[in-house]
Amino acid sequence: MNQAPVPTFQPDDSPQTLLDRVRVVLCRTSHPGNIGAAARAMKTMGLSRLYLVSPMCELDSVAEARAAGASDVLIGAVRCASLGEALSGCVHAVALSARLRDLGPVASGVRESAVPLLQAAAAGDVALVFGNETSGLSNEELQRCQKAVTIPSSPAFSSLNLGAAVQVMAYELRMAAFNEAPPAMETPATPFQSPAAALDEIERFYEHLERVLIGTGFHDPARPRRLLPKLRRLFGRAALEKDEINILRGILDSIEKPTGPQWKHRNPVEPGEN
Ligand code: SAH
Repeated sequence: MNQAPVPTFQPDDSPQTLLDRVRVVLCRTSHPGNIGAAARAMKTMGLSRLYLVSPMCELDSVAEARAAGASDVLIGAVRCASLGEALSGCVHAVALSARLRDLGPVASGVRESAVPLLQAAAAGDVALVFGNETSGLSNEELQRCQKAVTIPSSPAFSSLNLGAAVQVMAYELRMAAFNEAPPAMETPATPFQSPAAALDEIERFYEHLERVLIGTGFHDPARPRRLLPKLRRLFGRAALEKDEINILRGILDSIEKPTGPQWKHRNPVEPGEN
């Protein structure tokens, strides 16, 4: 008997539509010139959505001068009080970091990261997250992202200027978007695939998970032993879908408020469900 072909999912968005869904998120930037340089780097590669998380400087004439013709990107910049706010509504976030950390998200090459990011952009907004010029990204900021990208550089001097780092990543995205339009999916979507979970939903899941793990006694917040970053890393690899988040939240609810066998209350099995 012939098996029905597994439908493959091809985003029919144009390369530019995918690039329009990319947010460039700059965390705690201290120098206005770097924000201007980032805006210029973005515009040259067709990116336009700049997010500034707790900037430590004003968008002054220095920023304007470094943006050159990209002052529209500066004017349109969205100011946020936290990284969570900047990522609200996104389905995927990539951290740019000169240094890989022990328990950061899965590491990816800058070139290899581009196509998966565009694939994710077929489902919604995605983010590239950059750190402060001196301190880089904090561990908490890194752990909010599903992937970490390090731009190859000299081990003796690995830290690029912020604007230069934005330029390199934006260039790779543009190359991937226009060379491989539309990008092929890494894995074919099955008919059961639900949309990617939004990062806010995933954050609420982590909060729920933490609460339950404290409640059951599995997790001691006084001695965390890096449990939560490890779990974030695990779920970050899974590319969670909305349905899966609902299942996981349901499981957590059933631990918090056990009701006995729930299957007794469910409808009979639908054809094809098992
Ligand atoms: N001293 C900091 C570097 C900050 S540079 C540190 O060691 O982390 C400012 C930002 O530019 C970084 O947070 C990162 O987002 C980006 N960046 C600089 N060099 C990079 C590299 N080689 N790979 C990836 N991102 C880089």
